Amino acid sequence: MLTMLPPLLIDIVGIVAAFLLMFGLWRMSSPVTAPAGIKVAGIGMVAAVAASFLYVFNISPAAHPHLPVNLALAGIALAVGGGLAWWGGRKVAMTAMPQMVALYNGMGGGAAGAIAAMELFGNHARGVTQLGVTLLGAIIGAVSLSGSLIAWAKLQGVLNKPLRIKGQQIINAVVMLATLAVGFYILFIVQSGTVPVLSLQALICLFFGCAMLFGILMTLPIGGADMPVVISIYNAFTGLAVGLEGFVLQTPALMIAGMLVGAAGILLTLLMAKAMNRSVSNVLFTNFGDVVKQKQGAIKGSLKPTAAGDAGIAMRYAGSVIIVPGYGLAAAQGQQKLYEFVKLLIAAGVKVRFAVHPVAGRMPGQMDVLLAEAGVPYDLIFQLEDINDDFAATDIVLVIGANDVVNPSARSDKSSPIFGMPILNADKAKQVYVVKRGEGKGYAGIVNPLFYADNCNMVYGDAQAVMVEMIEAVRGLGLSAAA
Ligand code: NDP
Repeated sequence: MLTMLPPLLIDIVGIVAAFLLMFGLWRMSSPVTAPAGIKVAGIGMVAAVAASFLYVFNISPAAHPHLPVNLALAGIALAVGGGLAWWGGRKVAMTAMPQMVALYNGMGGGAAGAIAAMELFGNHARGVTQLGVTLLGAIIGAVSLSGSLIAWAKLQGVLNKPLRIKGQQIINAVVMLATLAVGFYILFIVQSGTVPVLSLQALICLFFGCAMLFGILMTLPIGGADMPVVISIYNAFTGLAVGLEGFVLQTPALMIAGMLVGAAGILLTLLMAKAMNRSVSNVLFTNFGDVVKQKQGAIKGSLKPTAAGDAGIAMRYAGSVIIVPGYGLAAAQGQQKLYEFVKLLIAAGVKVRFAVHPVAGRMPGQMDVLLAEAGVPYDLIFQLEDINDDFAATDIVLVIGANDVVNPSARSDKSSPIFGMPILNADKAKQVYVVKRGEGKGYAGIVNPLFYADNCNMVYGDAQAVMVEMIEAVRGLGLSAAA
């Protein structure tokens, strides 16, 4: 009876943890409830990890001598992993989040691969189904690990250029076929008891090596601008691999959590591909991320600089203002000052709203998080499809640290690498002010005709410093913030 208790407890905690993960994920669907959702999911994760220690009460007598060492190793692994994640999570800059996500995603894939490796090396997996699922989870986890590490290296600037070789697709196909062939061979020899050409251990190493090589080869040619979609795909892969290994270990919490992550990753991939007007196969098998040389001659008009104070005062006397935040706002950490300025405008009776593009910044939802961090109320924040028709009737648009997401060439210039990507209609407003430091290009590396348009003025400077100047100018008029 007593020996039945730990497995029963593990199952109960597993189901509760899975429920908490689902509930947490559901709460993450809105920026209002997302912080609480993350905490709930975190509690679920801690409960699942803590419950796994109950296995010590149910191990075979043969494993008893190893218990102290294994417990110490598990404790060290938890302390090192948890400590590094705690320290990294607190230290990471908002602009470096995509790299961190790529890295942690790779760790998830690696963990699924490691479970599969333990099963294969220990010859635990029994029957065609269990062995087949172990091998499938191993491939997906290993591809996710090596692919995510390459994505991390690209986002971190360690690998600066997409690396392409002639016949890349064929080489990739051959490596994948080799991985599958080795996998089937392992399945065959384990099931039939045939003596293998190489030792089983060597075959398993070859199998993992091929899968990891495939992840590397698949990711190397993909350009930087496509990395968020790629990370999202690997996120789905990791979830799937964890779910499959959960099936092998017969652990419901792992199965549910893995499938949740897999499904969420697939949905996010599709949404991001849609926001960039690309298909997923187009991202994986074409060269969108390349910086395309644009014909500068196609741009009409000139850049017209203006003082920050003048732009601030013009917004104070406008009826309506839409603010388009972008990567530069996050880089400058100007969100607090921006909201201080917005409060001044609102106190003066100006209708102010924020327009957020789905791929603004360097990771999905980055602008929502940034604005939430500054305390901007959610009812002032609008997504592209909810506000895009309002730009034409708006007095002033303030584009702050954004570039590609307001580039009108996406609508009309077929030679543009962002052609077809839905953009915010900032150019349609009566007046546009663009805050940026100089003539730097956006992530796609292309010229933005909006900056040269008759209705557009440039306010040069670091986003935070510009906001300070705007606040001083408006305060100089004798108004104060309502808040
Ligand atoms: P962009 O990268 O297009 O433009 C950012 C602009 O900010 C630059 O033109 C730069 O100009 C300016 N800038 C940089 N630092 C500062 C600063 N300190 N103060 C003021 N301005 C600054 O950003 P967007 O947000 O418009 O577009 C996002 C792009 O990133 C899209 O192409 C998207 O596809 C891509 N992407 C999106 C991801 C996501 O998931 N959201 C992930 C990875 C890429 P200057 O140098 O002159 O100051």
